[in-house]
Order: sequence, then structure tokens, then C-alpha cells
Amino acid sequence: MRIKVDVEKCIGAGQCVNAAPAVFAQNEDDGMVVLLNQAPPESMAAGVRSAIRLCPARAIVFDD
Ligand code: SF4
Repeated sequence: MRIKVDVEKCIGAGQCVNAAPAVFAQNEDDGMVVLLNQAPPESMAAGVRSAIRLCPARAIVFDD
């Protein structure tokens, strides 16, 4: 899977980091999402799907 994030939409809620800490991080200065892996392996798919579902800003989308 390939994913992308829209930092303009992100509100720094952090749910994505909780759901998939190997894929998402938060900028130390402003808390905005940092995408660590644009093409996470299948082993991380469940966490990534949770992050997409949980993000209150709908800032994470599939990139296909
Ligand atoms: S869950 Fe959404 S709003 Fe929260 S930090 Fe992640 S991308 Fe940003």
C-alpha cells in the first residue's frame, strides 16, 4: 500500500502515531504529522488502516 498525508489538514491529534508508530510521527515543534514510510509493508497494514479511520482530520489517504 501507498499512503500520503495532508499536513494542511492535520490538527496534531496524534491518533495516527498511536495506531502505527513505525509509519507516523509528529513534528516536535508543532505536532503536525510526519510520514515516516510512504509505502508501509503489509505487516503494518492493520495499523495504517486504523490510523486512517481514527484521524479526526481525514488527513491520511491511500495514494494509488
Ligand atoms: S491522526 Fe490525523 S490529525 Fe492527528 S496527527 Fe495524525 S494525521 Fe494529524
